[in-house]
Amino acid sequence: MKRALASSTSEGQSRTECDVLVAGSGAAALSAAVTAAFHGLKVIVAEKEPVLGGTTAWSGGWMWTPRNPLAQRAGIVEDVEAPLNYLRHVLGNNFSKSRIDAFLEAAPHMVAFFEQKTALRFEDGNRICDTYGNVPGAGTGGRSVIAAPFDARLMGNLIQAGPDLSAFMNITRSPRAFAHVAHRFSRHLFDVAIHRRGMQLRNGLALVGRLLRSAADLNVELRTSSPVVRLIEGGGRVCGVVLATEEGEIEIGVRRGVVLATGGFPHDPKRRRELFPADEEHRTLAVPSATGDGLRLGESVGGQVDAGLASIERGKPGIIGVLSNGQRFCNEGNGYHDYVTSMLDAIPRGQEAASWLICTRAFQRRYGLGIARPTPIPVEPYIRSGYIKTGRTIAELAQKCGIDCRGLERTVADYNLHARQGEDPAFGRGSTPYNRLQGDAGRGPNPCVAPLDPGPFFAVKVIPGSFGTFAGLKTDGSARVLDEAGVPIPGLYAAGTDMASVMGGHYPAGGINLGPAMTFGYIAGRHLAGEADYETRPAL
Ligand SMILES: Cc1cc2nc3c(=O)[nH]c(=O)nc-3n(C[C@H](O)[C@H](O)[C@H](O)COP(=O)(O)OP(=O)(O)OC[C@H]3O[C@@H](n4cnc5c(N)ncnc54)[C@H](O)[C@@H]3O)c2cc1C
Repeated sequence: MKRALASSTSEGQSRTECDVLVAGSGAAALSAAVTAAFHGLKVIVAEKEPVLGGTTAWSGGWMWTPRNPLAQRAGIVEDVEAPLNYLRHVLGNNFSKSRIDAFLEAAPHMVAFFEQKTALRFEDGNRICDTYGNVPGAGTGGRSVIAAPFDARLMGNLIQAGPDLSAFMNITRSPRAFAHVAHRFSRHLFDVAIHRRGMQLRNGLALVGRLLRSAADLNVELRTSSPVVRLIEGGGRVCGVVLATEEGEIEIGVRRGVVLATGGFPHDPKRRRELFPADEEHRTLAVPSATGDGLRLGESVGGQVDAGLASIERGKPGIIGVLSNGQRFCNEGNGYHDYVTSMLDAIPRGQEAASWLICTRAFQRRYGLGIARPTPIPVEPYIRSGYIKTGRTIAELAQKCGIDCRGLERTVADYNLHARQGEDPAFGRGSTPYNRLQGDAGRGPNPCVAPLDPGPFFAVKVIPGSFGTFAGLKTDGSARVLDEAGVPIPGLYAAGTDMASVMGGHYPAGGINLGPAMTFGYIAGRHLAGEADYETRPAL
């Protein structure tokens, strides 16, 4: 493999230099690396582990990419307004127009670029629907792609460091799949005998395999067992990194910029505790090396972590929000922003800015409560930690939460009186399409209203912005990491799970991680290369 440019320091030590240093080797990292290298930049990919591919290699590999060329070739043509409208409705207050615009504009170009200029080929997901079919702009197909299967022999020597094949998928799904796999498996055994591993890659493995082949074709330097441990600043920008290698720490000078794509923080217990206070039992399927390095590196030069927004099921039937006086203060099914604004307006100056969401145990079992997921996930750890308070009666619950007892009893009695008829005269829950979307379509006559009865009762405290999901570094539409003032930090980009999710904690469709990861990697690569405008339409 071709080496990066090397120069000598005044002390005579060898100092490696490149245009772009990418931390990580999952979808986001390799997308950025391949794009930047295609545009003529000298790129180094530094991966912490001895193998490449990250969680991406273990994944299903689906990418949500509305208006992609494969759909268009199949005659599924839609205006950008359709997915835009859909996301506007589903994301509600988490809709960040500039980043969504950037994503929706770039996604079709990203797919076209990779299929035309690199070893990445796609298959369509033209029959896959978006999650919320009754929302304006929802797609009934044509918004997803997946990497086409890839013969790993085409990876040449790269296979030694390539993705872990333990993620051999889909074997037991159906008899047909089994027959297909049995056929593949005989080939696989042959490959294992010859190459000591299987050669037909699918899903996330195919995506990583094809991206690695593309990276190698463009002379991207791939370094394994080389975590980025520090960023170097100079001249008002990020101008280098320090890698921890088996030979010790080495410094790499970076002329254009560093892309952080280290897979987020699923294995960073400290940050998880900070953002999810009662998250003792957290389990994740992400690779163990995703320990939040990218976020720490970003913060070390002024980057900000966007904690995301709570996705508490406030809109489901059978939950109310109350203040410490026991009284409701808003339509709980409205957006998070509305909930918090109404709460702050209703709390007298000098009192703690907090409210409580109250529901029955049956509600928690069915819908979850805050970060305590529904049955069969055990709720006891959340009760033990104090995150969820419980009471056999409303009075007992009020006493444990420090809520005015008589006030809460009156509120619940009044709410229940009308809720039995599916009504909420006080705040009109269920009166808007957004409310109804957040509700339970199977519940009549009002999908957002049900009585709190019978007990026992549960409560969780809501503090503005105290925890979130999909957290990551704040970025702009060009994937540049933003500082406290919202200004891009020169020479620093983030993509994939290191970047605060553009979906803001919502799940509008399958593939909403990898679609944006690939797209913002592509955006970062182009921005680093100084590529500005797209051609008006991606070539089909
Ligand atoms: C079973 C499963 C199925 C999934 N299916 C889908 C799907 O079909 N569609 C979808 O959209 N999402 C899916 N996901 C989620 C998706 O896989 C991830 O969100 C995505 O792969 C994250 O990509 P990434 O590029 O951000 O990070 P990763 O792919 O995790 O790559 C990060 C890499 O950075 C490396 N790293 C960590 N620290 C450092 C450091 N300091 N220096 C250098 N390197 C470092 C890690 O070792 C890792 O290799 C699935 C997840 C799982 C577990």
